[in-house]
Amino acid sequence: MSSPDDQDFISGYVAIAGKPNVGKSTLLNKLLNYPLSIVTPRPQTTRHKLLGILSEDNYQVIFLDTPGLMVPRYTLQKLMLKAAWSAIEEADLVLLMIEPSPDQFDEQPYVLERLSSAGKRVCLVINKIDLIPKPDLLPVIATSAERFDFEEIVPVSALHADGLKKLKQVILSRLPRQPPFYPPGELTDRPQRFFAGEIIRQKVFEQFGEEIPYSVAVSVEEYKEREGSKDYIKALIVCERESQKGMLIGKRGEAIKRLGRTARDDIEALTGRSVFLELRVEVVRKWRKEEERIRRLGQV
Ligand code: GDP
Ligand code: MG
Repeated sequence: MSSPDDQDFISGYVAIAGKPNVGKSTLLNKLLNYPLSIVTPRPQTTRHKLLGILSEDNYQVIFLDTPGLMVPRYTLQKLMLKAAWSAIEEADLVLLMIEPSPDQFDEQPYVLERLSSAGKRVCLVINKIDLIPKPDLLPVIATSAERFDFEEIVPVSALHADGLKKLKQVILSRLPRQPPFYPPGELTDRPQRFFAGEIIRQKVFEQFGEEIPYSVAVSVEEYKEREGSKDYIKALIVCERESQKGMLIGKRGEAIKRLGRTARDDIEALTGRSVFLELRVEVVRKWRKEEERIRRLGQV
């Protein structure tokens, strides 16, 4: 048994970066064996730099899940991109994740240039290999290796937890020997109220189509743990237009009731406590375009 102050303890920061929807949050959750980061089938679900800690007897890996690398079109996206790059800059090792097709770098050559000038160690993770026949993987590896001096190229299927053992070995072999940064039982640095808000946002993604999930911010205004009665959580759902508010609430409040029920169930599963969840919907025009508002709402 080793103890955390052993000289051979391995510890460091690993950023999970890549285009929207490549499976970054899925990978984080599988590595932690815990659904910390919300996953939906749609791009740009993750808005924050989210820290997830994997602790074992002889190592501690601090993963940073990030918003997708994209060309930003409005202020919220600009801040999301900033959060992603700030995670990359903090990291000892970057996992650059791509889909299994050979043209992955054509759209965004600047990503590789910037990683290169930041002098970062980068491991390429080719995800979703469950979706292609095995022989199709070779050209992806070959074209990728031509574009950048990757530390390693690791094909995985995050969804099916395939290739993750090898990936963990690669990560540990590239991290410094130093004591852990966090106590062993810690899973993240954010409070439960943050995750309550994220669960509500996930339910908005699941329940509503079109632009609604992208126009919505969730802000948890009150979170009271109460002994002898249910925990009280009051959350504000902000959208951009009256028409969206109408859809979020639904006929006779049916939509918001359903949203509240499904979100509450998941929050209860997360906390192991009974919860009374109160939801309110408000229109804040163009909140995604104003940095001050975005920050006040806790988005990014
Ligand atoms: P992110 O935007 O990069 O964080 O991507 P997510 O983790 O939110 O995943 C986006 C979508 O890809 C979700 O529908 C996932 O279920 C799906 N996905 C993630 N990893 C895999 C994989 O290995 N195989 C397949 N088939 N789908 C995956
Ligand atoms: Mg994500």
